[in-house]
Formats: sequence, C-alpha cells, structure tokens
Amino acid sequence: MELSSILKKLETSLDDTVNYFMDSTEGRIHWNTQIGKTVSLEFTGDIYCVHCGRKTRKSYSQGFCFFCSQTAPSADITVVKPELDKSHLGISRDMEWAKENNLIDHFVYLANTGNIKVGITRHTQIPTRWIDQGATEAIRIAKVPYRQLSGLIEVSLKKHFADITNWRKMLSGTYSDPVLLKESAKKAHNLLKSEFEKYLIDDDITSIQYPISDFPKKISSLNLEKQAKYSGRLVGIKGQYLIFEDGTVFNVRKYTGFSLKIVFV
Ligand SMILES: [Zn+2]
Repeated sequence: MELSSILKKLETSLDDTVNYFMDSTEGRIHWNTQIGKTVSLEFTGDIYCVHCGRKTRKSYSQGFCFFCSQTAPSADITVVKPELDKSHLGISRDMEWAKENNLIDHFVYLANTGNIKVGITRHTQIPTRWIDQGATEAIRIAKVPYRQLSGLIEVSLKKHFADITNWRKMLSGTYSDPVLLKESAKKAHNLLKSEFEKYLIDDDITSIQYPISDFPKKISSLNLEKQAKYSGRLVGIKGQYLIFEDGTVFNVRKYTGFSLKIVFV
C-alpha cells in the first residue's frame, strides 16, 4: 500500500496498549497493524505550515512557517515556558486562544520516562501528553486554574527533578518503578506545601504500555533533511517515535508539516 501524508503528531488512544493513528491520502492508518512489516518513508521535499497551511522552505518551532512562528499563539514561547505566560493578566498573542488554552485547568505531574521528570499539561491532554513523552507511568500532583501557575510550580520542582525527557533512555527499554514514582510525588508535595498547598492533589498512578517488544540496542535518529529516504522493518512505537529493527528511530512530531510518501510492504 502506498500513501501520502502531511505529518502531524501521531494521534493516540489508550487501551491495554497505546494505539497510534495517522491521517493519509488512503484514510486513517492504524500504525499498530504495521508492526513487523517493512515500511518505506520518503520526504517529498515539501513542508506545509501547521498553522496557515502555506508551503514553507523550513520548519520553525516544529511545523510553523517563519511568520506564524512569530505570531501564532500556538507557537508562543509560553508553550514551552509556561511560567512566562501572562494571559491571566490579559496579555497574550490572542486572548480568545488563551481563554481556551491557557486560562483553563492545568495539571502538574511526575512521569517515568526512563527517569522521573516533572511536567505540566492542560487538563484535556491527559493521558495524551504522557503518551507523547513515552512515559510508562505518571501521576498528577497539582491542579491549578491557569497556565502560568503550573509553570511556576514546575520551575520550583526543576531543582529536584528533571524536566526534559532523555529520548535515548526512553527508547532503550521499558522502565517501571511505581514505588519510586509514588515516593517522588510525596517528596514533591512536601517541597510545594508552604507555597502551593491549596493546589496539591492526590492521584493514583496511570500505567501505560506501548506496542513494542524488542528494543534495539543502539539507536540513531532519522534526519529527513539529510536522508530523504529510509526503509526498514518496524518493531514498535513509543512516545512519538517509530522504532525500526536496525535501531533507526523516527520522531514523527518533530517533522510536523513535512510531506511524506509512505509505502507498507
Ligand atoms: Zn504559517
């Protein structure tokens, strides 16, 4: 089967394991059903802005044209640095967008992505956010009414927990340590008690299984701008990565807006 797709991050649903989906010219692809098969990926050379849809020579901030990267609310610095958000003060690139995306409940969580990390997300993005990061388990530790507050809590925990996913570690195995995660949540609550007590919440651990059996020993990330064509046997999917038998991994989200020809053999 041959198809084309302008990449967006893989859509997911959580059952016993995570299911991964992609829209294409041949309809919705359920990637789990392709595991074990040989897949060819070919970058056509075209990139389309995720915001305005126009062709762009380069992708900025994971999928935007230069103009949109400077103006679109979804490309604002507060997406990655929530502590800088000012929409609760009425300041934003787009207040209507901010009302729907920033001035809503956010959660602060701890996740196990190979090590314990702290993160924040809109309440609507659980468990999607955890799946996108390849977490094997996660727990919510605080609930706040707007984005900046979640950023402030995250910043105060960064001295004690990692805040980025080590993707090599995340893709090199399935780490599970619910006891450590529960203890870490307790530790975080103690650290936050004096300043943020009214926002702290108790939560049960969510466990997440990914459709992958064998983790390759040595991994290398496919760079579509250097290597436009790749073919290999798909052995699994974790986070937003397709994982191939030879250790090649492909970060779908990173190539948002890229036009790809995909062949399933
Ligand atoms: Zn654009």
